[in-house]
Amino acid sequence: MSGSIKEILGASLDSALGEELRELKDKYLYRTLKNFEPIDAVHARFNGREVVLFSTNDYLGLSHDKRLIDAFTQEAKRSGVGAGASRLVSGTFDAHRELEAKIASFKGKDDAIVFSSGYAANVGTISALCSKNDLIIIDKLCHASIIDGSKFSGAELRVYPHKNLERLEELLGNSAKYRRTLVITDSVFSMDGDLAPLKEIVRLKNAHNAWLMVDEAHATGVFGEGGRGLAEAEGVEDEIDISMGTLSKACGLVGGFVAGSSTLIDYLKNKARSFIYSTAVPGAITRAAAGAFEIIEKDKALRTRLWSNIDLIRGELTRLGFRIGQTASPIIPLFVGDESETMEFAKALLDEGVFVPGIRPPTVPKGSSRLRISASAVHNGKDVEKLIGTFGKVAAAFQKRS
Ligand SMILES: *Cc1c(COP(=O)(O)O)cnc(C)c1O
Repeated sequence: MSGSIKEILGASLDSALGEELRELKDKYLYRTLKNFEPIDAVHARFNGREVVLFSTNDYLGLSHDKRLIDAFTQEAKRSGVGAGASRLVSGTFDAHRELEAKIASFKGKDDAIVFSSGYAANVGTISALCSKNDLIIIDKLCHASIIDGSKFSGAELRVYPHKNLERLEELLGNSAKYRRTLVITDSVFSMDGDLAPLKEIVRLKNAHNAWLMVDEAHATGVFGEGGRGLAEAEGVEDEIDISMGTLSKACGLVGGFVAGSSTLIDYLKNKARSFIYSTAVPGAITRAAAGAFEIIEKDKALRTRLWSNIDLIRGELTRLGFRIGQTASPIIPLFVGDESETMEFAKALLDEGVFVPGIRPPTVPKGSSRLRISASAVHNGKDVEKLIGTFGKVAAAFQKRS
């Protein structure tokens, strides 16, 4: 008897979920994992053949940097491959505090706090800072982790159309009735590769006494003379109350961080649940990350190579007549629109040995599906040639077909 009830329940779970999965497949929104066998930061084998990756956020190729691998290995031998506990229990080693000191001095802030991912940093920080009687205002294209953190906080959430300052100002105009108001934006938007108008946002948040949190995930190591991010490039670093970044993009590792005043960092250590109730990121990671910031500070040539690849790819795609995003950043979106066409184009590229992911809803709004090219400093001339040549070839085949 109990066996048959279990069977019925089991079947109904699978049939309910299976139904939803079928709907995703019908809409070209079904996702599967692809297995890559890494060769280096931008090359891998896929189904037995070598492909060039234009898909990673490893903008400086640091995931395979020998100096960082050595630092990682040495620290792993010393403090293990896992930290064994959360940071507040026994999971804080000198490697963690040294990284936090490094990030603080790099960002020109009092202190910093490291989380196990950028996602955890955003969710933990936002939900610690705001609650029921507060107002959070975000850009429509903010990263999912910002949306999740905002919802999780229980604060009133208002979303302004992408980069629409008039609407932001209007929303700030209603902020007086809340206990506190937090404005949050990505500095480089992750799917469009365009930039937040930071100077204007700073002016507005100051005029309305709001706090400003900026997510520099894609800008750290990429923008600014010193590679400190878009706030540096725009000359507003001191105006950012809560400066968030990740170890997972240009740093080539995994983890997230927030830099700010010592009071802010102290507060987050006491209140951010994703920090408190989660195992510390391994010391080996933080040791390597300190090395990554060192490289970002000192090796400007690496950044120069990244930007010359960005310029080259943008120039060549434009010359071939492709419609790409208007802003120069390592994220180069090529707008297709239709979901199925985007995925077919991506598959045809992959068949030719070039991996560029197709991005579909719910990651981007319906009808704005795109190919998302990510440039890296370690793409060589041949890699870029292969990208451009393959785009030309696949586009020609698609044109003939239609
Ligand atoms: C990638 C990303 C995150 C999340 O960082 P992870 O380290 O991958 O968890 C947060 N914000 C933005 C804007 C991102 O692009």
